[in-house]
Amino acid sequence: MSKNDEDKEEDLHMEKITDDNIKGHKYLFRICLIGNASVGKTSLLKTYTSNPFHNKYMPTVGVDFQVVTLKYKEIIAKVHIWDTAGEERFKSISSNYYRSSHGFIYVYDITDGDSLNSLENWITLTNEHTNSNVINFLVGNKIDLENDRKVSTNQGKEFASKHNLIFLETSAKTNENVQRLFEYFTFKLINYFEINKSKYMRDDDDNDDQDMTSFSNLKPLELENDEKSKCGC
Ligand code: GDP
Repeated sequence: MSKNDEDKEEDLHMEKITDDNIKGHKYLFRICLIGNASVGKTSLLKTYTSNPFHNKYMPTVGVDFQVVTLKYKEIIAKVHIWDTAGEERFKSISSNYYRSSHGFIYVYDITDGDSLNSLENWITLTNEHTNSNVINFLVGNKIDLENDRKVSTNQGKEFASKHNLIFLETSAKTNENVQRLFEYFTFKLINYFEINKSKYMRDDDDNDDQDMTSFSNLKPLELENDEKSKCGC
C-alpha cells in the first residue's frame, strides 16, 4: 500500500469475511468502545456484527467482545472489538483492556449533552492506561432521534477537533453509518501500520509477517486538519 492510498475513503472496499477459520491474517487489531452507560455501545457492536437491534436496555457486565475479520485489498485484519461497561464500578476491570487497544471509539448520545461532556473524563482515563493506541474516533449515536437532539453536529465536530478524533454520527437502530464506522476505523489502522512499517521493524529484519501491532512504542496519528472536523453524516 502506498502513501497515496491514505484517506481515499471513497475507495474503501472492505470485505467482511465470515469464515471463522480463515488463516493468515496480517494484523490483529483491538478497538475499545468507550462512553457512559446507555449511549449505545453494545447496540453499535451488535448491529455491526449482525445481531438484531434490541430496544430493551441490558447493561454490559464488565467487558464483552466480538471478533470480525476484514479484508482490504490483499490484507486481512482480524479485529477484536471490546465493549466496555460504562458504569463506574466496572472502570477498573475495563482499564485492563485499554492498555493494549490500538484505538478507541468514544461514544455519546446526541440526545444527552452530559454523555458528550463525560467523554473528557473517559479520554483522560483511557490516556492514562494505554501505550499502544494510534487512532481514535468520536461517535454521536442515536441520530434517528433527531427531534430530541441536544448536541449539534458542530459541537461534536469541535470536540473531535480538540481531541484529535475522527468524527462520525451514527444510528445503531437504523444502521446508519455503523458499517462505515468499523470499516473506516480498520482501514485507518491498516493504513497506519502499512505506512509506518519501517519505523517499527527491526533493522535486520525485512519480514512482512512481523507482528507490528504488538509494539508498545506506537505514536498517535496526527490527523489532517480537514479530517479533524470531518462529519461523515
Ligand atoms: P450501552 O450501555 O452504551 O452499551 O448502550 P446500549 O447499546 O445497551 O443501548 C442503551 C439503550 O439505547 C437501549 O435501550 C438501546 O435500544 C438504545 N439505543 C442504542 N442505540 C440506539 C440508537 O441508535 N437509536 C435509538 N433510538 N436507540 C438506541
